[in-house]
Parts: sequence; C-alpha cells; structure tokens
Amino acid sequence: MQDILQMKIEEMPGLEFDCSCGRHHSFSVQGISIRKGAIEDLPRMAAPFKDDKILIVFDSNTYRVAGETAVRLLRENGFTKVKELLFDTGSDILIPDERTLGRILQEQDLDCKLMIAVGSGVINDSVKFVTSRTGLPFIIVATAPSMDGYVSDGAPIFSHGYKYSPQAHLTYGLVGDTDILKTAPQDMIQAGFGDVVGKITAIADWDLAVKANGDYRCDTCVRLVEKALEKCFAKAEGLPERDPEALGALMEALTMTGVAMALVNISRPASGAEHMLSHFWEMDYIDRGLNPIHHGIQVGVATVVIARFFEELADILPEGTAALCPPAREIEALLRKGGAPASPKEIGISRTLFHESLIKGWTVRPRYSILQFAKDRERLTALADQLTEEFYG
Ligand SMILES: [Zn+2]
Ligand SMILES: [Zn+2]
Repeated sequence: MQDILQMKIEEMPGLEFDCSCGRHHSFSVQGISIRKGAIEDLPRMAAPFKDDKILIVFDSNTYRVAGETAVRLLRENGFTKVKELLFDTGSDILIPDERTLGRILQEQDLDCKLMIAVGSGVINDSVKFVTSRTGLPFIIVATAPSMDGYVSDGAPIFSHGYKYSPQAHLTYGLVGDTDILKTAPQDMIQAGFGDVVGKITAIADWDLAVKANGDYRCDTCVRLVEKALEKCFAKAEGLPERDPEALGALMEALTMTGVAMALVNISRPASGAEHMLSHFWEMDYIDRGLNPIHHGIQVGVATVVIARFFEELADILPEGTAALCPPAREIEALLRKGGAPASPKEIGISRTLFHESLIKGWTVRPRYSILQFAKDRERLTALADQLTEEFYG
C-alpha cells in the first residue's frame, strides 16, 4: 500500500489499511474532488446512479452559485431522472428542523437512489441526516469552506427548537470547486479558517489526554492533519482576497480533518478544549434565543484562549505537550493573517459568559482536556480570573 502521508486527498476515498497505531482503518467515502472546476467531476462521481432517480437539494442562493450548473452537467451527461428540490425561504434563513427534514423526506420518491446536497451547513446537515435514516448515499457539492462537517458522520439539527447532533453517516462523495467556494461570504471563510486553526489546540489536547489520561492516539492521523494545516496556514494571507489556492488549501484542511476523524472514529483530531468553550458560548446564545456566532469563528477565538492555558500550565504539563502548542500571540497573528477575528471580546462574548465558560467548559462533554487538567491540578479558578482580566481588561 502507498504511504497515506504521501497521498493526495483525491486518492484517499475507499482507503483501507493496517496502521502503526495497531488498528485497521477504513474510509468509506467514494469520491473527493477539491480543485478549480471540480463541479465537472460530479457526473463521474455520480455515474453509478446514472439511470436512477436522483434528488438534488438546494436553496435559492446555492442554486444560483452551483445548483444550476450541477443540474445542467448531470443532464448533459445523460442523467435523465434528476428531480430538483428548491428551498425558497426568501429572506429567512433555512433551519435544519422538522419542517426542512420532513420536506426532504417527502420529496424522496420510492425509486430514489441518490441525493445530492448543494450547499454548506444546513443543506449538508439536513440531507446527511435524512439519507442516513432512509439508507441512501448522498453527494455534497460544497458552496462555502465554512466548517469541517463535510466529511463527518454527525448532523447538527433541531428538534422542538433544541439543537443536538445525532449520528448520521459519511458522504458518498464531496465536490469542492474553488470557483464556487470563492463566492462564499467572507464570514463563512473566516469561520472555516477558525475551525482549522482550532486543530492546533485539538492536537495538543489529544497529546495531553494520551499522556495524562492514557487515551488512544493514532500518529498517522495526527500527521495527516498537521500536513494539511501547514499547507493551509502557509496560504492563509490569500483568504481575505479569496485567492483560489488559499481557499482550496482551506477546504482541503477541513476535509482532511474529516478523513482523520473517519479513520479513527472519534473527533479527537478535530476538536479539543477550544471546541468546549465554543459549544459553551453557543449554548448560551441558543438559551437566550439568539443566533449564535458562526461555529468556526468562535473556535478560532477560543484557540487563542486555550493556547494561553498551555502556556500558563507549561510548568506542570507532561513532557513534550507544551511544545505542540505555539504561543497564543502567534495563533492570534495567524487568525489575523487569514482575516478572522482573534479575541472573545471582539466577537461579542460577554465578560461574564467568558469567565463562566473557562470554569465550566470542561463539563460540556465527558472528554479529557486541558480544562480538566487545570481543574484536577487546582489551577482552573485562578487561571480563569487571570485570563478574564487579560482578555477583558
Ligand atoms: Zn469545529
Ligand atoms: Zn492509526
């Protein structure tokens, strides 16, 4: 088998191997295409379903930037049973709730064999959830490099106004066309970048959990993510100008994190204490009936904060762990280079919420992290006070 670390992301679909971590890894995604003009690869990716009924889902915006082209390409290439579902919400934002999910289910005819989701967050999550329950494969045509959920088996949706993330399934294929991604609003690009920056502390946190808590780790997956991060960070200054190469590297880093998660079947490669802070903030916003700030924007900001934990606790961290996390001010500079916000105050997190999240963030999920480490070593309260003063003055 070719060394996975030398592979291009397009070569990874269908991959299966015995890993140095002692486990057998497999990756069920069948096709990935991330490049300029990648939408032209859609008919080839969907070819096994050429004679079948296909349901393609978009909203008015994603129809305009990608859906229209997707339908045309399929028809030109001999796909005759393509059924369209357009969510026309006007100025309202689409929510992945009972109404949206039910609508998709209603449009899934008995002889439908494949769904294609054209969009990012909501359309991706909705189609992912419905197809996971009805047992159909789906292909995602991404319209924004905004999060790492394209290749992940979770689908954040709403039930009775409450957000949760039930397990769904992995996509059959992913199309990330940089000509389409560059039409994404700047805040969605910032969010994707923030989510990628978050992998820095996620990986340091994973190392801590291995050394201080005896958790499992796969070094191959860590290297996969690190390589994608290096490439993305090297091109970060092109993001504010929507440079196609920078957007491609961002999309690849988001996707590679998904690949790594799928290989080890846990979200460790993608999410550590920085995600706990962001989830804590998000839950507070939802509790108060407010629209939360983009996930990745919160994550990017939280990464700077968690990096301060690694700095302040360096004296008691296991050997080698502190070195995995760069100084907080470097992470802040990196976020700025990519045009993303870098402080909790700047994105409107209140001082009270910030302090509370540092103290209680470890309760968000049962997972060992630097927050738990600080709590167990009785350093959490003092650190929370110190950092709140530092970030809010
Ligand atoms: Zn994330
Ligand atoms: Zn492994």
